Amino acid sequence: MIEFLSSSVISGLIVMAFLGALSYRLGFVDISGLISAFFVGFTVWYTGGVAAFTVLLFFFISSGIATKYKYRAKMRKNVAQEAKGKRSWKNVFGSGIIPMMFSIGIFVSQRLAEVGAVSPSLAFWMFGGFIGSVATTSADTLASEIGVFSKRKPRLITNLRRKVPAGTIGAVSLLGEGVALFAGAAIGTIVSLYALFTPGLVPVTSSAEILLIFPLSVLTAFIGCNLDSLIGAVFQNRYVCEICGAITDKEFHCGYETKYVGGFKQFTNAHVNLGSSGMGAALGVVLGAGLFVWILGFLFFWVVASSSS
Ligand SMILES: [Zn+2]
Repeated sequence: MIEFLSSSVISGLIVMAFLGALSYRLGFVDISGLISAFFVGFTVWYTGGVAAFTVLLFFFISSGIATKYKYRAKMRKNVAQEAKGKRSWKNVFGSGIIPMMFSIGIFVSQRLAEVGAVSPSLAFWMFGGFIGSVATTSADTLASEIGVFSKRKPRLITNLRRKVPAGTIGAVSLLGEGVALFAGAAIGTIVSLYALFTPGLVPVTSSAEILLIFPLSVLTAFIGCNLDSLIGAVFQNRYVCEICGAITDKEFHCGYETKYVGGFKQFTNAHVNLGSSGMGAALGVVLGAGLFVWILGFLFFWVVASSSS
């Protein structure tokens, strides 16, 4: 029985079936989203291992809850996700495909490192990319779903002096930025705990890499989330609501049809998420790989700062 459960294919299928049934019942996903989440989840479980899967699970559960949080109030503000907040395959692949690729990257680099073909650090760089993309997507989703409740009016990321209605594409608020930092810190904590207590489950090769996980996660979440707002504000198709003045990606707002004002017509929120998750991943790889550059840079600034005071 134990052998049966420890086989990662069987245990993975059991865990996915359980979580899939639960998230479908809670209304996190529709059928297409369920099938794609099963696919992405199982691949990450099998290739990246339990720690990587836990990070992905944090994203999945926290965004599911955040999307459902005060859903009716969001409906009234015209900022709610469509279809009662059920995510479809487009959402799941938009946020899951890059982490999945990096998870496969971890697996392949570990196998190559075993035969001495590549440095063991390569798996950590891939892991950095994995964390970077999930941290970005988590930060973006949580910041969007919670940030709309900001008491102060949000501002446009491309023109911070301009106040805009909540839900506007590219709108940023202090609350949203705080939530983004929280998402990064949560993922950083989860991974650091795995690395400290069960180092075999995380592809780290030194204690310096363990120390790097937390700042890597917070930085990628924060920068990736703001890049997402920026890409959205510049490229995403957007419409103006002639009733309330909101700039939105919805063709209907305040009960009326909206007017197209800019962006690329085929460039939807899923494309924005895919783009920012790729950039978050790239940043994660750079931060993970540039360990020494990073430490040297920090020392440099520290020396400069302490000598000037
Ligand atoms: Zn409106």
